[in-house]
Amino acid sequence: MLGPVILAASRSDRIRRLISAAPVTRQVVDRFIPGETVDEIVPIVRELTDRGLELTMDVVGEDITTPGQAAAARDAYLELVDRLKQLELGTRAEMSVKLSMFGQALAGGHELALANVRPVVEAAAAIGTTVTLDAEDHTTLDSMFAIHEELRKDFPQTGCVIQAYLFRTEADARRLADSGSRVRLVKGAYKEPAEAAYQQKHEIDKAYVRILKVLMAGEGYPMIGSHDPRLISIAQELARQSGRKLDEYEFQMLYGIRSDEHLRLAAEGHRMRVYTAYGTDWYGYFMRRLAEKPANLRFFARSMISKG
Ligand SMILES: Cc1cc2nc3c(=O)[nH]c(=O)nc-3n(C[C@H](O)[C@H](O)[C@H](O)COP(=O)(O)OP(=O)(O)OC[C@H]3O[C@@H](n4cnc5c(N)ncnc54)[C@H](O)[C@@H]3O)c2cc1C
Repeated sequence: MLGPVILAASRSDRIRRLISAAPVTRQVVDRFIPGETVDEIVPIVRELTDRGLELTMDVVGEDITTPGQAAAARDAYLELVDRLKQLELGTRAEMSVKLSMFGQALAGGHELALANVRPVVEAAAAIGTTVTLDAEDHTTLDSMFAIHEELRKDFPQTGCVIQAYLFRTEADARRLADSGSRVRLVKGAYKEPAEAAYQQKHEIDKAYVRILKVLMAGEGYPMIGSHDPRLISIAQELARQSGRKLDEYEFQMLYGIRSDEHLRLAAEGHRMRVYTAYGTDWYGYFMRRLAEKPANLRFFARSMISKG
C-alpha cells in the first residue's frame, strides 16, 4: 500500500525539498547512489570490475525543465565517457540514460532528446561500449522506442528497457526480439494507471515470465533486470531450454540491492551487470528504491527520527 504513496511523493517538489535538505538523508542515499561526482564514482567502477562484475552507469536526473539542463545532462555523460575511456573497460562499463533528462518532456522534446543523446551514444561507441535507454512512465515510451529505433540505424547495439507491468510490453518484446537487439526486461518502477498496467504483484510476475520467454526464444540479447530469486531461477532455466550460452544473455541488478547475489551469479560464470547511479539529482531514483521495498522507508524514517 505504501509504494504508490511514495511514488506520488517522488513527483512532489515540496517533499523533494524537505527530504533532500534533511542532514541524515545522505547516509541512507549512499546505499543506492554511492557518489555525487565522476571522481567519487571511478574507484567504485574499479572495485566492482575487479570483482568480476560489469556495470551500467547512470548519471541521476530526470524531468528537467530547461534546454540548458538537458545540455548539461549530455555533458555530464560525455565527461563520464572520457573517464571510462581511460579505464579501457569496453562493454564491461556501459551507460543507462533517461530521456526525460535529455529534454524529452520540453517543447519539441522528442527531437531535443534525440539531438542530446546521439553524441553520448556516438562517444560510447568510440570507446567500444554502448548505451541503454531506460523506460520511464508509459506516456514517454512511444517517443523512447522511436528514438531507440533511430539510434539503432547507426548504433545497432543501443539497448532499451521494457517493463513487464505494462499491457503493451509483450507486443513490444516481439517487435524488439530481433537479431542484435539488446533488451533489458524489468518489472517497472513507476505509478501507472489500471488502464495501462497490471497492479498486482502476481500478475506482474506472470507477465515477466511470458515476456522473458519471448526474449529468450528471439534472436536478441536479453538483459534480465531483477533481484527476484524466483525470476532469476526461471531465467536460468529458460536460457538453458533455449540453448543460450552464458554470454548470450546477462543479469542486471541495482547497486546496493542483493550485492551477495551479484557476486554469486558472477562466480557461477554469468554476466552480471550492476546498475550504478551517481550524481546530485538523486531524489526520484532514491524514492523509487524506497517504494520498491517499504522496509527501506521504515529504515529511512527511523534514521530521521533518531538523528533528528
Ligand atoms: C538493472 C535494473 C535497471 C532498471 N531499470 C528500470 C527502468 O529503466 N525502468 C523502470 O521502470 N524500472 C527499472 N528498474 C526497476 C524495476 O522496474 C523494479 O522496480 C525493481 O527492479 C524491483 O523489482 P524486482 O524485479 O527486483 O522484484 P521485487 O519483487 O520488487 O523484489 C525482489 C526482491 O529484491 C529485493 N529488492 C527489490 N527492490 C529492492 C529495493 N529497492 N531495496 C531493497 N531490496 C529490494 C527484495 O529482497 C525483494 O524481495 C530497473 C531494475 C534493475 C535491476
